[in-house]
Amino acid sequence: MVSIENVSKSYGHRQVLFDIDLAVAAGETVCLIGPSGCGKSTLLRCVNNLEDIDRGLVLVDGSLVGYRVHRGRLRELRENAACRQRTQVGMVFQHFNLFPHMTALENIAFAPVRVLGEDRTAARAHAQELLRSVGLADKADAYPSRLSGGQQQRVAIARALAMRPKVMLFDEPTSALDPELVGEVLNVMRDLAAGGMTMIVVTHEMGFAREVASRVVFMDAGRIVEQGPPHEVLGNPRHERSRAFLSAVL
Ligand code: ATP
Ligand code: MG
Repeated sequence: MVSIENVSKSYGHRQVLFDIDLAVAAGETVCLIGPSGCGKSTLLRCVNNLEDIDRGLVLVDGSLVGYRVHRGRLRELRENAACRQRTQVGMVFQHFNLFPHMTALENIAFAPVRVLGEDRTAARAHAQELLRSVGLADKADAYPSRLSGGQQQRVAIARALAMRPKVMLFDEPTSALDPELVGEVLNVMRDLAAGGMTMIVVTHEMGFAREVASRVVFMDAGRIVEQGPPHEVLGNPRHERSRAFLSAVL
């Protein structure tokens, strides 16, 4: 479903991703772990076409996402593809950034109407259904300021799902939450994984990774150092750097 092939990326002169190869099959949940600054967010942003890559390919469901082509027609093709692609990849960030002047339901129904041209009534019905699926059926009319952080993040997940993405990316979705609110968000993500969504999750929640991930990928300094089933990578890391990282976080 997601194929990252030989991807390299620099910011100015500083290279932050080195020849990343990662394939994520449909229905897989891959947890991406690693120390601060190792390139986890950058890699997710390349999948979502929020960053241009310098080298390599990213494919989502067989179509090209980021490809640096500068000239005329090819550039245009790429821009069109980019528009299509972005709607196929949903992303949830650490800070939920809901529209403050819209209710929970309006936050969710807005883009499907505006971007996908969905019928307004249908989009609102779908939004209500999504609110139910994240346990917030009774919060449709609440404004973000009246919701807890965990509830806001669940609305943000519903908002991403409203675009009917093929892949969901999560970048530390629980890091900004009070500890007692983390579980409710992880539960929603667990349900989503169980329902067959393809997911790439950057997280420090090792319990979640151990329980939900089909695969754990450990990155360090812009490279994938090791990957495998959670019990192997988390329980018995083979590389010195993964061992050092895990002994610090577990
Ligand atoms: P964290 O766990 O702290 O979120 P990360 O693994 O997500 O870290 P990235 O945010 O991908 O790491 O950053 C990788 C490297 O790229 C870091 O050295 C960072 O300082 C640098 N970087 C990230 N974004 C930019 C940017 N827009 N311009 C320049 N450098 C950047
Ligand atoms: Mg990050």
